Amino acid sequence: MSETPRQQQGPRLREALRGIPAYKPGKPAQGADGGPAFKLSSNENPYPPLPGVLDAAVAAAGSFNRYPDMGTVALIAELAQRFGVPEAHIATGTGSVGVAQSLIQATAGPGDEVIYAWRSFEAYPIITQVNGATSVRVPLTDGDVHDLDAMLAAVTERTRLIFVCNPNNPTGTVVRRAELERFLDAVPADVLVVLDEAYREFVRDAEVPDGVELYRDRPNVCVLRTFSKAYGLAGLRVGFAVAHEPVATALRQTAVPFGVSQLAQDAAVVSLRSEDALLERVAALVAERDRVEAALAGQGWELPASQANFVWLRLGERTMDFAAACDAAGVVVRPFAGEGVRVTIGETEGNDLFLAVAERFRKEL
Ligand SMILES: *Cc1c(COP(=O)(O)O)cnc(C)c1O
Repeated sequence: MSETPRQQQGPRLREALRGIPAYKPGKPAQGADGGPAFKLSSNENPYPPLPGVLDAAVAAAGSFNRYPDMGTVALIAELAQRFGVPEAHIATGTGSVGVAQSLIQATAGPGDEVIYAWRSFEAYPIITQVNGATSVRVPLTDGDVHDLDAMLAAVTERTRLIFVCNPNNPTGTVVRRAELERFLDAVPADVLVVLDEAYREFVRDAEVPDGVELYRDRPNVCVLRTFSKAYGLAGLRVGFAVAHEPVATALRQTAVPFGVSQLAQDAAVVSLRSEDALLERVAALVAERDRVEAALAGQGWELPASQANFVWLRLGERTMDFAAACDAAGVVVRPFAGEGVRVTIGETEGNDLFLAVAERFRKEL
């Protein structure tokens, strides 16, 4: 580099950015032979916005010549009431991925370590590396569950943050109360543990703890939630963290100013007030998840029990073939080459198309 005259060089970009894996969004759906197509690749909610939400968003759109409320005051007040936590313990962001990125900015830079299970949410390695911190990946158990003992053993002097994705994306598996509490009690108090609960609303296992209960007497625990999945606001980009004041304050310091649009804020407030309709839809998706799991088991598949709005088929070398067969049938799934396929629970018709491909595949195995 030093031999090229400065005038002939492009802008210097940080070394840390070299080799960052690209985030792979779920492919847009394209119907087979012009037929209907179902996008089961991004864990989105198949339902339209909850009652009143579209009206609130449309009304907010009328003033998008103005900046949004930077403090997201009304949304924070609504969330504080809903969860029974102080307003000072809540920080909002551009989706919970935006909040997670702020958490890393607030805790871990070059030389620092961020621990997470693998495979888990693909945003973790990206946001860790962007900030120059080092990823420490701890393999899931054979049952595709977080190996909390191994994660604890991976803690070093340099560890600054640990993600626990519960339920885990893409496997749908959970860690339960007793093991998680034991883990939290053993992690050094100066390491931030982030409980990423993007799929919390879909959990039916009573032994899976609510992170908002666990954080209360633990200053080093931060809970991440999102409006993107159960609430169906993925396109509006709004999520939030619940954490004690020093962490919540750090999140406000590192957040992109005015990152959460007024559309998103108003839509989120109305969504929180539509709880009956929300619970009804979530219940329908959970019932559909149970139906899909039972059908797969009936076909002879062995898959981890999912507590989220997707299922995980460990297809190994056949992953890409399976994804291509789904594509051809008009249903788009999310393959992880060489590992497996994650399939979102969507409209019944789309789920049935997926089940038909799975049945054909099973017979060929
Ligand atoms: C989808 C998802 C999120 C939420 O992303 P948003 O930025 O809120 O849309 C967070 N964590 C996990 C594990 C997810 O799967």
